[in-house]
Parts: sequence; C-alpha cells; structure tokens
Amino acid sequence: MSLEVSFKDKVVVVTGAGGVICAELAKEFAKAGAKVALLDLNLEAAQTYADEITEAGGVAKAYKANVLDKEALEEVRTQVNADLGKTDILVNGAGGNSPKATTDNEFHETDLPEDTKSFFELDTKGIEFVFNLNYLGTLLPTQVFAQDMVGREGANIINIASMNAFTPLTKIPAYSGAKAAIANFTQWLAVHFSHVGIRCNAIAPGFLVTHQNVDLMFEEDHETLKPRGQKIINNTPMGRFGEPSELVGGTFFLASEEMSSFVNGVVLPIDGGFNAYSGV
Ligand code: NAD
Repeated sequence: MSLEVSFKDKVVVVTGAGGVICAELAKEFAKAGAKVALLDLNLEAAQTYADEITEAGGVAKAYKANVLDKEALEEVRTQVNADLGKTDILVNGAGGNSPKATTDNEFHETDLPEDTKSFFELDTKGIEFVFNLNYLGTLLPTQVFAQDMVGREGANIINIASMNAFTPLTKIPAYSGAKAAIANFTQWLAVHFSHVGIRCNAIAPGFLVTHQNVDLMFEEDHETLKPRGQKIINNTPMGRFGEPSELVGGTFFLASEEMSSFVNGVVLPIDGGFNAYSGV
C-alpha cells in the first residue's frame, strides 16, 4: 500500500471554509486532488480561498451558506452537485463562541462586583446562538449533504470537536456543551450510517490562534499573552499553540478510505498533549 494520500476527484464540502482552520483544510484537500466546495456565511472570505486554490491549479468553488438555514443549504447542495458533483466528504467546520455566552470569572464567588457577568446573567439568546451554531450547524449540513453520500464508496464525514468535548473549559458553558454534543453526535452518526457506507469521525483540535479566540488569548498588541492564554500554554505539554497545518494529517487519515476504512466514530485529539495532561 502506498502511503501517499490522494483525494483525486473526490468532492469535499467544507463549512466554515472562510475561517482559519477550514481554509487550510480546504486548500490541502485541493492539493491532494479533491474538488472543494468552500461554504461560509462570509462569502468574501470563502471566495478568497477558492481563488487561491484555483490560481494554484486546483478545483474549488465558494458558496454563501448559513449552516443554520436548512432550506438555503439544500439550494447550495443543488449548486454544488451541478458545479462539482455529489459530495464524497463533508467537513463540518463552521463554529464559534460568543461573549454573550461567556462568564467573566472562572469561579463563582459570594463577593463578586455588581457589574460582573456571572453564570446567572448569561444571556439566553447568546447561549442559544452558540449552541445552535456549533451543534445544529453540524447536524443540518449533515442532513443535507449526507443524502448524496448514502451508498457512495469511501464517503465520510469529519466533524470538528474541541478539547471541551472531553473536559469543559471554564467560562464557556454553551460552547463546551455544544462541542461535547458534537463528539456524541459523531458516534451517533457513525452507528446510524454504518449500514450505508458513510463513516463519521471528528478531530478535536487543541489550541490554535484564530479570529475567534485571538482576543481571549492575547492583549491588544496580539503578542503579549493574557493570563488565559498563558494558562493554556502551561497546560499544553508541548508548550505552544498549534498551527492549522498540524490538523491536516489527522484529518486526512480519517477522511482517507485507504488509511482508515475501519475507523468509525472516533474523536481524535490533535492538541500537543493537552488532553493527556492533568496539570500536575
Ligand atoms: P474561524 O472563526 O477562523 O472560522 C469560523 C468560520 O465559520 C468563519 O469563517 C465564519 O464566517 C464561519 N461561520 C460562522 N457562522 C457561520 C454560519 N452560521 N454558517 C456558515 N459559516 C459560519 O475559526 P476556526 O478557529 O478556524 O474554527 C473552525 C472550527 O474549529 C470551529 O468549529 C471551532 O469551534 C473549531 N475549533 C477551533 C479551535 C481553535 O483553537 N481555533 C480549537 C478547537 C476547535
């Protein structure tokens, strides 16, 4: 068996492809021969990366898509089928957090200042937004695109969980819960689709610096670590943040029929050892 990974002529649909992690995955899938559909709420961002891929000789198309709008996703599915063909691999990458669903403090105390955003003040709409974006935003594109994957040789789904799927981080109960739900849903899908040839696995990235967390990790200069960023580094045995390129190998392993045809329902940490470390 050759260890070279090829996704030649596979149609790979990537949601959140205008973002840091999924743009990287989209570009690498294209380099490995796939025809890539880059879906994002932010069409301009997705278009930029699709253009980069086509300029480098790959096949890609950008689509404006809200992962929470099933009807609109059905329309995108029709377009993708016409432009590139039926989906072989779906990467559910759109996701994120919101300050409205984030507590100011790690621990509740009896003497918090009055203006503290404690657990009791978290905004219901903010919690719904985060939970829906991550969980429903994984489930709905799967309902839509997996229809074309039934019975398709080598078809599979890659979800994006997080360290929160194993142990929740402080301050972000909605994001943590949603990522744990994604890990659970990954197992559910793996079982549900096991008779029709669609595998489903997830990656659980450790900490990478991206648009959605740069302000949580760094001061305004984007160089000096905030205490939370420092804590993350201290709890990552390898002592650094990850790079988006470091998620590619694990993703390719799970997505490749040659390499992982019997791997189904796993959540693969790619985290510099964070998940293995108790901090002591
Ligand atoms: P990012 O903010 O760079 O990208 C997220 C993308 O999703 C953006 O382009 C955004 O426009 C898009 N998006 C947001 N809402 C959408 C919607 N309703 N419909 C369609 N697209 C929408 O973030 P990222 O860090 O690249 O995150 C990618 C995935 O990886 C997310 O699921 C995130 O939760 C997960 N993740 C990130 C980290 C990290 O350290 N950055 C760690 C673990 C997991």
